[in-house]
Amino acid sequence: MKKIKKILIANRGEIALRVIQTARELGIKTVTLYTEEEKGLPHCTAGDESFSLGSGALKDTYLNQDKILSIAKACGADAIHPGYGFLSEKSSFAKLVTSSGLIFIGPSPESIDLMGDKKTSKIKIQELGVPSIPGYHGENQELSHLKKEAKKIGFPVLVKASAGGGGKGMRIVEKEEEFEAALEGAKREALNAFGDDTVLLEKYITSPRHIEIQVMSDSHGNHLHLFERECSIQRRYQKIVEESPSPAVTNDLRAKMTAAALKITRGINYLGAGTIELILDTDGQFYFLEMNTRLQVEHPVTEMVTGLDLVALQILVAEGGVLPFKQEELKQKGHAIEVRLYAEDPDNNFLPSIGQIKLIGKTSLRNVRLDSGYLDGNDISISFDPMLAKLIAWGETRDLAADKLNEALNDVVFLGVRTNRDYLKRILTLPEYRQGLTFTHFVKTYEEKLKPVKKSKEELALAIAAALFNKQGPTSQASAVAVGPRDPWIALNGFRNI
Ligand code: ADP
Ligand code: ADP
Ligand code: MG
Repeated sequence: MKKIKKILIANRGEIALRVIQTARELGIKTVTLYTEEEKGLPHCTAGDESFSLGSGALKDTYLNQDKILSIAKACGADAIHPGYGFLSEKSSFAKLVTSSGLIFIGPSPESIDLMGDKKTSKIKIQELGVPSIPGYHGENQELSHLKKEAKKIGFPVLVKASAGGGGKGMRIVEKEEEFEAALEGAKREALNAFGDDTVLLEKYITSPRHIEIQVMSDSHGNHLHLFERECSIQRRYQKIVEESPSPAVTNDLRAKMTAAALKITRGINYLGAGTIELILDTDGQFYFLEMNTRLQVEHPVTEMVTGLDLVALQILVAEGGVLPFKQEELKQKGHAIEVRLYAEDPDNNFLPSIGQIKLIGKTSLRNVRLDSGYLDGNDISISFDPMLAKLIAWGETRDLAADKLNEALNDVVFLGVRTNRDYLKRILTLPEYRQGLTFTHFVKTYEEKLKPVKKSKEELALAIAAALFNKQGPTSQASAVAVGPRDPWIALNGFRNI
């Protein structure tokens, strides 16, 4: 077992800070990277050392494998944590790191190769006897052949980029006549985003839920699961609300889903943290969707219900350590919900927004966690992911967790930029959310109900009066608010007494 002393984090933002937090607790030194454009963001200075990647396109900065590796070697790091996104699922990077004698905090390049591609992973999991969505995962990419396969599957069909991620390169085809145009669209998008236009076809499941199993494996043959997360609330196939446990998963179903997940990790001799994504249909049947061979954005909900530190476990197993507990010792306690706060304007077609963050705000509520990559005064640019922060709340029950998260969103305001905060509050308070009617088309189904309530002239006048009063008033927080935002509603919604 080789103890890691210094980790270079090949990522940015909140996930870089998250890795630093655990590394510090373990007495491990950290090295962060930044681009010239990011100077002033907290991850640039949060580590023990930091190095500039220069500026320019992502391929020259956070995706530049050689540059990152040479920094790691020069500063004497003995391990690299890739975070999520960027190089985290590039087998060539894992290979480069390990062949240079450094530890890659993640699975082997072979596992990434096998599971990182939707097509090859489906073939493998079929071999392992785990159900996957009926579809075509073959080599033949000719239009006439794919069309024939689509007809065989039966419409609606989903065309998916094999190398896909983040919902890119995905098209629903309702009927045969639409197939050709959809295929072209998916291929074009996939080529642009991933440099590979290979597609697969899947039966489109009409009322599904997205349920995923967190897994963790060591190099001594111990393969454990850390229960499920439900991430059905999505916009354009991107998750926005995630929780554990899932309101739809019974003990019996959980046993079946987790057994399927462990069949996969055992079957491929996996190492480290990973997620097996599953689709659950209304008949209680579930199918393998894909595996993410890395730490996921929504890992905090699992940490809150299990009490574990997933980054610490990643480090431990990367060092060659043994997972320090047995499956039976793990429990899902209470309920945790996460929302992703984005710099976007839900009232204007979710257009990305930019600007300077005047005030993030903090909450004094207990068991609430804010994972953010920003500080007051930072500028939001369009060069990077629009996710501003993740806010996570834990409660004894699902309702208590949702109530608490909704309350915490009154405190964490991100004044100065337009955000989806109010939209998230409307989701959390919608009776259908509370009833657990969380299907992947949730935001579409309840689109009208999720629109902002139009404010009356009287309410507007009152709000402006209150803003003016606050501007002259004695509390420093209120005055900071009143001078910051462009829109009085943004300011005032942050304070529950108005
Ligand atoms: P990505 O790599 O973009 O995450 P996934 O294959 O995980 O792609 O799919 C993302 C989302 O798209 C899922 O969470 C689900 O909401 C939807 N989806 C994917 N495949 C299907 C399918 N066959 N039927 C219905 N919805 C699907
Ligand atoms: P999940 O972990 O549930 O699969 P996503 O697919 O949304 O969630 O997360 C991966 C995405 O996160 C990447 O495609 C990328 O766009 C984005 N991303 C990568 N690095 C960061 C970062 N440091 N901060 C915020 N977003 C990032
Ligand atoms: Mg996915």
